[in-house]
Amino acid sequence: MSNLIVSDEKCTLCEICVHSCPFDALRISAGEVHIGDECVLCGACVKKCPEDALSIESEVSEDVDVDTELWRGVWVVVEIDRIDGKNNIEKVSFELIGKGRELAESLQVELSAVVMGIQLDDVVKELSRYEVDKIYCVENQELAEFRSGIYSHVLSELVRDFRPEILLCGATADGRDFFPRTAALLHTGLTADCTGLSIDIERRILLQTRPAFGGNIMATIECPGYRPQMATVRPNVMPAPRPSFEKKKEDVDMVEWQPSAIALKSPVEFLNKLVADAESANISEADIIVAGGRGTGGEAGFAKLKRLAEAVGGMVGASRAAVDSGWAPYTAQVGQTGRVVQPKLYIACGISGAIQHLVGMRSAQTIVAINKDPRAPIFEVADFGFVGDMHKIVPRLTQEIDQ
Ligand SMILES: Cc1cc2nc3c(=O)[nH]c(=O)nc-3n(C[C@H](O)[C@H](O)[C@H](O)COP(=O)(O)OP(=O)(O)OC[C@H]3O[C@@H](n4cnc5c(N)ncnc54)[C@H](O)[C@@H]3O)c2cc1C
Ligand code: SF4
Ligand code: SF4
Repeated sequence: MSNLIVSDEKCTLCEICVHSCPFDALRISAGEVHIGDECVLCGACVKKCPEDALSIESEVSEDVDVDTELWRGVWVVVEIDRIDGKNNIEKVSFELIGKGRELAESLQVELSAVVMGIQLDDVVKELSRYEVDKIYCVENQELAEFRSGIYSHVLSELVRDFRPEILLCGATADGRDFFPRTAALLHTGLTADCTGLSIDIERRILLQTRPAFGGNIMATIECPGYRPQMATVRPNVMPAPRPSFEKKKEDVDMVEWQPSAIALKSPVEFLNKLVADAESANISEADIIVAGGRGTGGEAGFAKLKRLAEAVGGMVGASRAAVDSGWAPYTAQVGQTGRVVQPKLYIACGISGAIQHLVGMRSAQTIVAINKDPRAPIFEVADFGFVGDMHKIVPRLTQEIDQ
């Protein structure tokens, strides 16, 4: 916990801080500076005070073990989507195993996978084919369906028992939900939505890179004083390694572990799981995306893209310009402030190819661009290009495919 502190001895009641606070959190009354609940500890007032009367002090929690020497190993928390009684490993977990291997080798430590759920035999078998040294398997009926509270308590107990120095998870809906809770339970930091991870070998520190300030800069964040160092990583930004079919379950160390009864208690009862319809499904997982930009001209243009997407069995994506114009939902936005996608085929229609769009789609296997401007930057990343009016080309393509 941190607090803003006012030194009554130094304060001259000049009121400069009151006017400097962007959150209107400071008041002067009865000869004192009062700090309201609005304070978010941004530190703006501390810099403005001419008397050095303000400071932000952090209290280090007594139960935090900051002896970093006691923490070793890299862990990937594997996300399992259970549909119709079958466990499916999320693709991002494989991507993290690839990156985790690299980090573990830099640090010369083991790479472990953590699986939580029920009937995990097939999951363990599948994971054993990848370059993991150890699998922590937590099999319990209470973990059959994802519940953020239980998952975070169970994971934090496991982490306290075995002390990994790095803990990674996908920045999926579930990962974004339970990983910050786990970090809070462990009194450590977390960098959300990373797009790059590397190691400062001399200091054994995880360098966590992610876009900041609305995507205008890339920030590299460290967590030097607390353990584990925790990060969620965006799906589709790191390549997934290939499995080795020679490697077997017996080649991997297995740790079967059970949480305490308290960790498994939850006020949340699982009732039912509703699968999202195709319209709101996640385009990050699509193999084929037909994306539209400002050049589509509006909803009528997007209707043409939808027809093409149906013909090729794909989903519709959009540039931010199209989303901002209200022609497509935000869930369809591809790019720096939208989804990062890695489909087999990406068809960009009426999209200029601004850098913020390209970062979201340039790792697609094949890119086809349709644009009436031959100098549009999208052609620089495209494998195939049509120079012309998308309103003529898209229906023609759809017709050809239908036939
Ligand atoms: C911090 C930040 C974050 C951002 N995040 C994102 C993001 O996540 N995703 C994103 O997409 N953008 C993002 N942007 C916006 C980005 O900079 C561009 O403004 C945006 O991508 C442009 O969208 P567009 O290509 O659809 O439109 P435009 O740049 O206006 O391009 C329209 C294109 O359509 C072509 N065209 C016009 N009519 C036709 C036609 N009939 N047939 C064929 N082609 C035609 C034109 O030649 C032109 O090339 C971000 C910007 C900032 C500053
Ligand atoms: S730290 Fe920031 S939010 Fe808090 S009182 Fe100072 S200026 Fe306001
Ligand atoms: S700016 Fe400093 S000296 Fe002035 S009122 Fe605020 S705390 Fe006191």
